[in-house]
Amino acid sequence: MLIHLPGRAVQWARVFIHPALKQGATAVDATAGNGHDTLFLAGSVGPGGRVYAIDIQEEAIGNIKKRLEAAGLGDRVTLIRGGHQEMDRLVGTTVDAVMFNLGYLPGSDQSVTTGPDTTREGIKAALRIINPGGRISVVVYTGHRGSRAEAGEVANLLACLDPKYYSVQKMLFWNSRGHSPELYFVTRTGNEK
Ligand code: SAH
Repeated sequence: MLIHLPGRAVQWARVFIHPALKQGATAVDATAGNGHDTLFLAGSVGPGGRVYAIDIQEEAIGNIKKRLEAAGLGDRVTLIRGGHQEMDRLVGTTVDAVMFNLGYLPGSDQSVTTGPDTTREGIKAALRIINPGGRISVVVYTGHRGSRAEAGEVANLLACLDPKYYSVQKMLFWNSRGHSPELYFVTRTGNEK
């Protein structure tokens, strides 16, 4: 079988998340932005599935709505303008997959970035609602201002997860000439807790 290895961080995140998206699955795009991951999730969960797409920017939500309608996938996506730190309340159900793609929206106002505290709380909220066997991807960018503090929060939080219940992998672009993104792949393994 020919395997096409992905070159970009977001593509690796999709490779990791995909096995958690059976037909009828429930998934969250925690940083919906321009909607590319939302489209990927909506396409993968099938007609009986549900995707919650969260973003704090009204503009992002409007763009995604158009994109989903053009793709005929609007009916299986719930668009939420809000902060992912309140994900458990906003989504109100357990889920099979959550994707975080942090930083700022490319081509938009770079002052609206994800931040250390809301990102930490968002990941904690995702950990509360993820089903056994479910997967969480976190793509952290490290080049922009404030990104070091955010990367530190993510690293510390995920290092502390009990290996009895969670498996966590970290991936870097080792020979990158700039600031490598940091990818975290979390699987909820245990049945309890
Ligand atoms: N840097 C990435 C894109 C990140 S988009 C890339 O290169 O592909 C990050 C998105 O998160 C933005 O659309 C922003 O509006 C959103 N965001 C920021 N803080 C948020 C929060 N607390 N809750 C939900 N979305 C948030």
